[in-house]
Amino acid sequence: MGDGVAIYNLGSINIDHLYQVDHLPKPGETLASQGYHVGLGGKGANQSIAAALAGAQVHHIGAVGADGGWCKSRLSDAGVNTDHIATVATATGHANICVDPEGENLIILYSGANADISDAQVKDALRGSGSGDHLLLQNETTLTYEAAQMARAAGVFVIYSAAPFDASRAIAMLPVIDLLAVNEVEAEQLSAALGTAVETIEVPHLVITRGAKGAIWRDRQTGAEHQAPAFRVDPVDTTGAGDCFIGNVVAALDQGQDIDTALRRASAAAAIQVTREGTSSAMPRSDDVDDFLA
Ligand code: ADP
Repeated sequence: MGDGVAIYNLGSINIDHLYQVDHLPKPGETLASQGYHVGLGGKGANQSIAAALAGAQVHHIGAVGADGGWCKSRLSDAGVNTDHIATVATATGHANICVDPEGENLIILYSGANADISDAQVKDALRGSGSGDHLLLQNETTLTYEAAQMARAAGVFVIYSAAPFDASRAIAMLPVIDLLAVNEVEAEQLSAALGTAVETIEVPHLVITRGAKGAIWRDRQTGAEHQAPAFRVDPVDTTGAGDCFIGNVVAALDQGQDIDTALRRASAAAAIQVTREGTSSAMPRSDDVDDFLA
């Protein structure tokens, strides 16, 4: 730490268990699965991997259980620093996902170790952070408010993805963040909860992603609105597109790129990601983005 700018990501680490079923199970039903796939997920892990593959120095702050050693290895294989990922007594957070042939799903999410990140762990991780660094936060861990306050006091730029959406949590976070990132649905939910359009809120920077319709970045200080048109591709699996986009935006900013360049690289990265199966395993490397934009 302390060697140049870095991204700190206080984020979830989940094991995704995916079952392919011919219909979603009914109460009391025992259902055989036609297929099974296990992967690393969690919005936190997805964003850390996206940012590290984009070339940034990323310190993930999180927790796994004794069953999560391979998740840490997967993160470090992508270049993420895992020194601040604790191993706790609770099982690793996980999602059991059933998907039927129409693509309809049923998900059971257990936050597990993600709820066991300690205050001391966050303090220790952020001790070396300062001006020029970035802190990423989402809604799948505890301590997001405390981490944002601590980081901001040290001059760190704080980015918050308000997902999975929770109105009271999102509203509580607004005063302690520099950039709010939401997708179209979350933007509507937050507008409804606030009783005013999300565009009018007083956060310094706002990013709204709109899937294949692209994204916008609003800078409240300058009044500038930056457009990020999406690239035209044939998507195969759009899960994790938002995480890929945010991870790449922050990685580019952390490496000193301007907002328009960061948005263009993030749009390209997300366009590549949606053409690949999987979530964290589908995140592109910076070379892939260079080739795509060449
Ligand atoms: P989330 O995954 O959070 O719902 P979005 O669906 O808004 O996020 O997607 C985030 C970004 O990913 C978009 O701003 C866009 O750049 C890119 N993206 C998503 N879907 C597509 C698509 N079908 N084609 C091209 N780019 C896409």
